[in-house]
Formats: sequence, structure tokens, C-alpha cells
Amino acid sequence: MDKYQQSQKNKLFKTQAHDPYCLQRVEGAAMCPQCDAVYEAGNWHWNRAENTGVHNAQSVTCPACRRIAENAPAGTVTLSGSFLRKHYDEIIHLIKNTEKMEATEHALERIIHLTDSEDDLVVTTTGIHLANRLGHALEAAFKGKAQYRYGDTQYGLSVTWTRNE
Ligand SMILES: [Zn+2]
Repeated sequence: MDKYQQSQKNKLFKTQAHDPYCLQRVEGAAMCPQCDAVYEAGNWHWNRAENTGVHNAQSVTCPACRRIAENAPAGTVTLSGSFLRKHYDEIIHLIKNTEKMEATEHALERIIHLTDSEDDLVVTTTGIHLANRLGHALEAAFKGKAQYRYGDTQYGLSVTWTRNE
């Protein structure tokens, strides 16, 4: 585990609440009818060719697809500042790339919406890891300032990133 992962882990431990969308107990194996993610041994992951026994899995909608259907994000990243407009395409590219990397490793980490308004760009995610990673990726690539606020009573992470000029 490198330093980046370690710091992510430490931050996650501070979050008291668990993801209510992941509390649903599933007996045995399951497969999501919408995204084909597979549930085995307590975890959702992408189906792999070497998987056996998935053919008799029950059909259960995964937490990420449920959050997308209900538009109930676990993470929100709000980008602002004049730098955003000047480097818009690069920023969007970074966001999409970061999602791709995170979602490859973790089946439940996906972007729900990208909402652009005059003042800011809001990215909502199905998982707090992706929101966290987006904040770090933005800072690493473009500097600026990111702030992370975990929900006190509700499971969630709210990230703001801003850079001017
Ligand atoms: Zn799914």
C-alpha cells in the first residue's frame, strides 16, 4: 500500500456511517441485471472470464445502479474558479479518465452526472472513493485547492475544488 492509498484509507476510517446502499444482505452469488457486476463473498466486482458459478446467480440490482436510478449520489465534487473555463476540456478529460481508472478497479465507483452551470461544474458519484480520487487528481494535475467534507450523520463525501486565474 503506497502513501496515497494509506492516506485515503485513514480518511475513510474517519467516516462513521456505512453506505446504506451496501448494507443489503445477499445470500450466495448475485449478478446485477443492469451492469453485469457480480456479487460474491460480500463484494461487488466486475465479472471475470474465470468466474464460475455465476450462471446460477440470482438477479440483484447493485448499489451503484440503484444510486444511479434514484439519483442518490454518495459523492459530490464541485469545481469552481476562473481556471475551470479556460481549461475546461482538459479538466473534463481528467475527470473521465479518473473515472475510467477507478471504475475498472472498483465496480461500484462511477459518475452519475456532470452538471455544468455558469458558476461551477458539479460531478456526482456513486461512491466516496471516486469523489476523493477526483479531488486528488485535480490537485495533482492543476494545483488549486481541494477540500473534503465527510458527512457527519449521513454517509457521503463532498469535495470542492477551486482555482482562479
Ligand atoms: Zn449494477
